[in-house]
Amino acid sequence: MTINNSTQTVLVTGANGYVASWLVKYLLEDGFTVNATVRDKSNQDKVGHLMILGEQHPGKLELFNADLLNDGDFDAPMKGCGIVFHTASPFIVRGLKDPQKELIEPALKGTRSVLDSVNRTDSVKRVVLTSSVVAIFSDNQEAQSQPNGTFTEAVWNTTSSIDRQPYNYSKTLAEKEAWKIVEAQERWNLVVMNPGLVLGPSLAKSSASTSLSTMLEIMDGTLRTGAPDLAFPAVDVRDVATAHIRGAVNEAANGRHILVTESITVMQIAKAIHKALPGKCKLPLWQVPKIIVWLIAPLSGLTRDFVRRNVGYPIKFDNQRAIKELNMDFMPIDESVVSHAKQILDDGLLK
Ligand code: NAP
Repeated sequence: MTINNSTQTVLVTGANGYVASWLVKYLLEDGFTVNATVRDKSNQDKVGHLMILGEQHPGKLELFNADLLNDGDFDAPMKGCGIVFHTASPFIVRGLKDPQKELIEPALKGTRSVLDSVNRTDSVKRVVLTSSVVAIFSDNQEAQSQPNGTFTEAVWNTTSSIDRQPYNYSKTLAEKEAWKIVEAQERWNLVVMNPGLVLGPSLAKSSASTSLSTMLEIMDGTLRTGAPDLAFPAVDVRDVATAHIRGAVNEAANGRHILVTESITVMQIAKAIHKALPGKCKLPLWQVPKIIVWLIAPLSGLTRDFVRRNVGYPIKFDNQRAIKELNMDFMPIDESVVSHAKQILDDGLLK
């Protein structure tokens, strides 16, 4: 089976998630048959939007239950698949009580479990892994030590730990594990996507993704009295889905791919929403000086260490590999922000 055959069956893990839902939609539109794993296919709130996609593409989408923490759960959904898209992993950065259990175990054990199933499934020729730019860096401050203040795919996050940016640590461990497992065999190869903060409309009505909580926090008045000078490397969710498919079907694709359109600050996000949708939500009114953010950090759910290492530092990523190898033409980030804000308002998600 060649990998660029769009009539083949492919597997998407965590298919109900914010990013994966667009991937499933585009795969179905391209003619692929999709085996989609979710944690509970009877949970309508989580899979309702996938059921609609299934009705639009009869016989092309099948849902399977699979948990990252259960060895062997991915064997049955992977049967006969040529390509595996492994997206499932928790994207939670606030309110963590036990990062080891909530982040590291599902990210790391989950990657092992999915790739162990790949090793047992002869039909699989390629795995596309959803990693992140946080497998490249831990804190914005680190951009200062990069040539031209710009991160490339050659850089690895060496500073996160279970106590410092545990989500970043979970993604770094998981991606490293994937590279270790692929290098121990020769049948299948690995292509990795490293997206920045993903923005843009959600097809999933229910998701724990920090993409959604970040937008809600900017729109719902939480930051009304002021926003920190915090920059995010950002990218549109539809571009991320497209890049995954191109990374899967382009025989020559290999290695890591930074998926970042450009960096955007909290106030730039607020301004873009205000311009397109004036008066529709309670946006931050101004940017707060770093010293104030540092002082009130514990009250706003941030650590002072995070503020010290991230607030006030610009951050840049080199996206040339994705542009050249995957032929990406990233959409303007303001467009992603505005379409995301519209979807949040249309779906009545603002408190
Ligand atoms: P999301 O909507 O929360 O999706 C996460 C998916 O992982 C969900 O389907 C979730 O299932 C699944 N999952 C979590 N724990 C699981 C477990 N123990 N067993 C099986 N499935 C489990 O978040 P997202 O933003 O789309 O993130 C998807 C991927 O993109 C993640 O790998 C994330 O690290 C990566 N990423 C995201 C961004 C971003 O800005 N959004 C940026 C870079 C990389 P449930 O719905 O049942 O919880």
